[in-house]
Amino acid sequence: MKQIDQFIEFVRDQYKTTDFIPLHEPRFQGNEKKYVLETIDSTFVSSVGAYVDLFEEMMAEISQTERAVAVVNGTAALQVALRLAGVKQGDEVLTQALTFVATANAIAYNNAKPVFLDVDLDTLGLSPKAVEAFLEEQGELREDGCYNKKTGNKISACLPMHTFGFPVDLNELMDVCNKWNIPVVEDAAESIGSTYHGKPTGSFGQLGIYSFNGNKIVTAGGGGAIVSNDKQMGNFAKHLTTTAKKPHKYEYVHDELGHNYRMPNLNAALICAQLEQLDSFIENKRKLAEKYESFFEEWGINFRKENPDTTVNYWLMCVELEDRKERDMFLNETNEKGVMTRPIWKLMYKLPMYENCFRDEQKNAEYLEDRIVNIPSSVVIDG
Ligand SMILES: *Cc1c(COP(=O)(O)O)cnc(C)c1O
Repeated sequence: MKQIDQFIEFVRDQYKTTDFIPLHEPRFQGNEKKYVLETIDSTFVSSVGAYVDLFEEMMAEISQTERAVAVVNGTAALQVALRLAGVKQGDEVLTQALTFVATANAIAYNNAKPVFLDVDLDTLGLSPKAVEAFLEEQGELREDGCYNKKTGNKISACLPMHTFGFPVDLNELMDVCNKWNIPVVEDAAESIGSTYHGKPTGSFGQLGIYSFNGNKIVTAGGGGAIVSNDKQMGNFAKHLTTTAKKPHKYEYVHDELGHNYRMPNLNAALICAQLEQLDSFIENKRKLAEKYESFFEEWGINFRKENPDTTVNYWLMCVELEDRKERDMFLNETNEKGVMTRPIWKLMYKLPMYENCFRDEQKNAEYLEDRIVNIPSSVVIDG
């Protein structure tokens, strides 16, 4: 197709290469080598070290929260955040089916059940209206929280995910969840630097998490963070992810079942250097997004832009194609020609481990699954 060829040419022009173009690759243009070598010279490469502390300070500032805790990856962060929010065996957690598998897995690791509710077409994230409709139908407010009156299970958390960096409608979602006394944990794995009404995503719920996997906007190699505005809860997150060890000069005392989910100082060094560049990475991506926007406008294709009152980090950029057939044609041709594109995730209830979970109508999620495609989104190297 002629337009797909033009797209390929356009992307190659941005990244100035005839080689394979991945969806997202890291950029190490700052102090990465310096900081990582420092940890080796100091011998503090493992889970205690100055960069772990520095990273936690930087993350608290970036997320505008009281306490940030460094952990080994985003999935572990989610698992522990849900535990801290009070999710227990047999509980239900409200979330979206249009997400990366880690969101649902973290619920399952707590032996709880995901309840898949629909997303909004404009935010690509959990729909406050779908949550409200579900609760009006099946929710029952009791003294110790919200219950599902059809199953008898407690609904102990709501876990929205900010898809590709686009914030969900947080004001409305927080209102609904507060009304039903359901704690919110934000899966902000993809949305570091994105804001909603001027406030960082990840800072609205009782807890929020971020991921620093290799494909994210900034990377620790692998890594994650738990943030909270409740300092005590944040400190408890540190305790639980540090094998629940009581501080003592020499004795090993662990006061409950904890996890070894600490981030090594070696990784913290890398992410500190990356975080120094977060603003410039986002600025760079926003420029690329503008170029994509005008390119696709001419083609008559919907390039996803940020919604009013939000700023988006444009971690992964995406377009909405006409239907599944157009989508597949676009995917096949671009990937064949060395420009990587990828469909949005298969909906969670189509995976074998989640096929028996409750779900609502999923009209919007199904619509988006057929049409949304990610396009190359790495930071463009200037010059
Ligand atoms: C990347 C990601 C995670 C988990 O991150 P890891 O660091 O890879 O464990 C969780 N949720 C979403 C939506 C993600 O994109």
